[in-house]
Amino acid sequence: MVSDVAEWLASARRISVLTGAGISTDSGIPDFRGPQGLWTKDPASQRLFTLQAYVADPELRVEAWQRRLAHDTWTAVPNAGHVALAELEQAGRLDAIVTQNIDGLHQRAGSSPDVVIEIHGTIWQVECLACDRRTPMQATLDRVRTGEADPPCLACGGLLKSATISFGQSLVPAVLRRAQQAAQSCDLFLAVGTSLTVQPAAGLCRVALTAGARLVIVNAEPTPYDDRADAVLREPISAVLPQLVAVA
Ligand SMILES: [Zn+2]
Repeated sequence: MVSDVAEWLASARRISVLTGAGISTDSGIPDFRGPQGLWTKDPASQRLFTLQAYVADPELRVEAWQRRLAHDTWTAVPNAGHVALAELEQAGRLDAIVTQNIDGLHQRAGSSPDVVIEIHGTIWQVECLACDRRTPMQATLDRVRTGEADPPCLACGGLLKSATISFGQSLVPAVLRRAQQAAQSCDLFLAVGTSLTVQPAAGLCRVALTAGARLVIVNAEPTPYDDRADAVLREPISAVLPQLVAVA
């Protein structure tokens, strides 16, 4: 099965990839929704990621900043799965990586920033909820380290939050359009490490299938699209992606 998919990748004209938390677990970043995920084991922690609660509750913001300080992303390094996708792009074979991840590991593995479409935003930036100004996360974390428990926007005094999409917060329409375009324009859509249960990511598989693309799913757990996929691979992502890309 792996060799069949590798041949499809080699013969595809336009490849788009969708990635979810599963590609980053081998880099030590936990999957929030998986069996061992934070939200599965501690549903109450979802409140930390809910916009309305974040805006209303100063204590929750203080806790959110402490969690950002200790976030796994700062020490994580890209794994062989991220690197394989970067190599596929460098070989001129990959048009887009739509990712649900906020960790920036695709870019750190060498994928071009223009190719990576971050539908849930990025934790590497901070955004002001009042004036939309974006600044680097690390500069704000430095302020937290030096005693500002809930640092306000330096331009307008508004509330700051990581530039990620919280529950209750809208996706960015322009980013969503790019993701849909990536799904619509490819002839092979590779969904990696995503449960395909969360919109809009799940719907992108439907867009790709409707446009006539082959669908390949690489995920440890079953997904709602397994029946419609041309191939489903259960192998560990950081092991199988390098094999798929080696032939391509
Ligand atoms: Zn501001």
